[in-house]
This record gives sequence, C-alpha cells and structure tokens, in this order.
Amino acid sequence: MTMNQTDVDPGGVPDSAGLLPAASLFHGFSDPTRLTILRHLALGEHRVVDLTEHLGLAQSTVSKHLACLRGCGLVQSRPEGRASMFSLTHRDALMGLLAAAERLLALTGDAVALCPTYRLETLEGGS
Ligand SMILES: [Zn+2]
Repeated sequence: MTMNQTDVDPGGVPDSAGLLPAASLFHGFSDPTRLTILRHLALGEHRVVDLTEHLGLAQSTVSKHLACLRGCGLVQSRPEGRASMFSLTHRDALMGLLAAAERLLALTGDAVALCPTYRLETLEGGS
C-alpha cells in the first residue's frame, strides 16, 4: 500500500495533512473500556483472565478490546503456558499522552463530557 497526499479516509475526507494515523490513534482511545484496560496494563503484564477479574469485565469484552489495542500496536502479547500475557508496547509514551489528555480535560472540564455532538455519536454506538 502506498501513502500519498491524496489518500482519503473511510469517511471520504481528504487526508492532505497526513493526519489519518493520528485520527486512528485517537479512535483507539475513544472507548472507556479500552482506556480502562490501557491504564490497568500500566501496572504490569496481565492475562485476559486477570483483566476480567481486576476490572470486573466480561472475558469477551476484554478479548475484543485487547485485539483492537494490539492491532493498533498499543499493546503486545507473549505466550505463557496456554495463556497470553498482555502488556503495553510503549508504556512511557502512552503515559505521557494520557497525562497530557488529563491536563487538557482539566482545562476544558465538562465541555468535553457534555458536548452534544460527542454524546450523540456515543449513543449511536461506536465500537
Ligand atoms: Zn490487575
């Protein structure tokens, strides 16, 4: 696949500035469960069964989001016995980004949480 100045994202928006990778990255963060998993993996390696216990989530939910995060390159896994151990691929960079997001959230506060456009998209059911 070649990348060039005329690439168009699935929404039909010209990606003339090459921002599609960044938009895809933020889409990876666009789910509270994925954020919860990422933050918890900052504590160390976990198996799927550990994450389901520690976070109180269904195994299918955890597996689905881990597959997404691994596809994004944010999470990696290694086999251990019959299970897989999941960990953050770039822990320091991720923590830095989440810290920056928290700073920005502190400044924008409820504006983000209450944005009617965002709420609409959430209610329509993202991934
Ligand atoms: Zn844990």
